[in-house]
Amino acid sequence: MSPLESNATAPIVTRSPIFTVAPVDDDDPPGAPTRHPLWASVPEEQWNDWRWQSQNAVRSVRQLRELLDLPADELQSLGELEREYKTSIPPYYFSLIDTTDPTDPIRLQSVPSSKELENPSGYELEDPLEEDLDSPVPGLTHRYPDRALVVTTHVCTMYCRFCTRKRATMVRGGWDTITRDDQRMVDYVASHPEIRDVIMSGGDPLTLSPTRLRFFIESLSAIPHVDVLRVGTRVPVTLPMRLFDQDLIDLLGSTGKVWVQTHFNHPREVTPEAAKGVRMLLSAGVPVNNHSVLLQGVNDDLGTMRKLLRALLRIKVRPYYLFHCDPVIGAGHFRTSVWKGLEIVEGLRGHMSGLGIPTYVVDSPHGGGKIPVMPNYLISASDDAVILRNYEGMVVRYQAQDKPSTVSPTPSRGVSSLLTGQRTALIPENTERLKRRALRMVEQKRPAGYSTEEGGEPTHSTGRGGCSL
Ligand SMILES: *Cc1c(COP(=O)(O)O)cnc(C)c1O
Ligand code: SF4
Repeated sequence: MSPLESNATAPIVTRSPIFTVAPVDDDDPPGAPTRHPLWASVPEEQWNDWRWQSQNAVRSVRQLRELLDLPADELQSLGELEREYKTSIPPYYFSLIDTTDPTDPIRLQSVPSSKELENPSGYELEDPLEEDLDSPVPGLTHRYPDRALVVTTHVCTMYCRFCTRKRATMVRGGWDTITRDDQRMVDYVASHPEIRDVIMSGGDPLTLSPTRLRFFIESLSAIPHVDVLRVGTRVPVTLPMRLFDQDLIDLLGSTGKVWVQTHFNHPREVTPEAAKGVRMLLSAGVPVNNHSVLLQGVNDDLGTMRKLLRALLRIKVRPYYLFHCDPVIGAGHFRTSVWKGLEIVEGLRGHMSGLGIPTYVVDSPHGGGKIPVMPNYLISASDDAVILRNYEGMVVRYQAQDKPSTVSPTPSRGVSSLLTGQRTALIPENTERLKRRALRMVEQKRPAGYSTEEGGEPTHSTGRGGCSL
């Protein structure tokens, strides 16, 4: 466990003599930033200078050897990998790693691993989303009716080992030689009035020279039919000090069309520096949304995911997507089942602020685009009503239209009894909500108004549009 994390769990809070609330499951505020001993004596000013961070990024196996305890066979594999793939880890991001833990989630994302050499099923692909096939001009993907994605650079501040676009970014010489004609991409957008939202991606657009970045921001924003210009960047996560540059912030805020789409994957990435960078974006009127990738060993458990999402809300970053990890070559060890994603989403919706809940999506093979997947909330249906269930497990009949009620002459039981209209809900006993309700009834000296037997039929109903409980 790194010094950034605390072992403390919240105490059990007794709210009433009748019941106790389960312990709050997370919410350690981010701790003080740490540094790997190698950089302990770097003056604060240099540490917070993004140029220094970029220049001193860890890029070679030779450097990794000094920083981490790597077994000989792993070193040999890393040597092999180094010929094919780039590595880059700014000292700031590297310092978030607990170097005593070989399975540290920050390390897994950034430090190469021998597992990248594996592809046992052969299922993993170079271009899993077939972006290059939906590319009318080099570097631009036009897949959805009203959106286009432009790859503005192949450079990143940190190369995520699971990157979907690693053919362009991480592979040595990937797109170094591809002539992406910036003007041609802009012209394509300008000549397609149906495009209202342009995603500047990469690579990381915030690694562009100020001149090229200004060119893209200004020329794309100047197109009247472009309402939204998204800048997809991991800089708030891997090099937040880049955002301490007021000129950059002013440029991003200058056209009023820019949104930042960033990529936090783990709560420990939400540091005071990241918070400051995001604050600067927000103060320039640039909204910040996040997508995470569901990664085995990094964030594939409910507790970590809740911590991450709550930490993002605290710094006013809106969780937007949770991506299933794409089948890209060398990323197989990061991939989980889709069930794992559903299990996590089941533990989010209803359980925590809806503002913090991303849409879980699978990016479809054959360029089908993003497909949302979620647990089933629709249980059954009849001509008159649908049967839904909520996060507590309450199963409820919902009549969407104002029609004369038709109670079926055939009595039934269970879910079917909701369809026949003989019951309106099957209610689990002793949920926290019902206990709170019971407590209030006791306080108000009123009858509880529900029975918990046999799924708890409401004993009185309220007016239209109301809830009977
Ligand atoms: C993700 C993506 C978009 C944007 O999709 P949204 O659902 O609007 O966020 C656009 N184009 C491509 C090629 C994409 O992969
Ligand atoms: S920052 Fe984005 S583009 Fe760059 S390596 Fe990571 S996932 Fe890929």
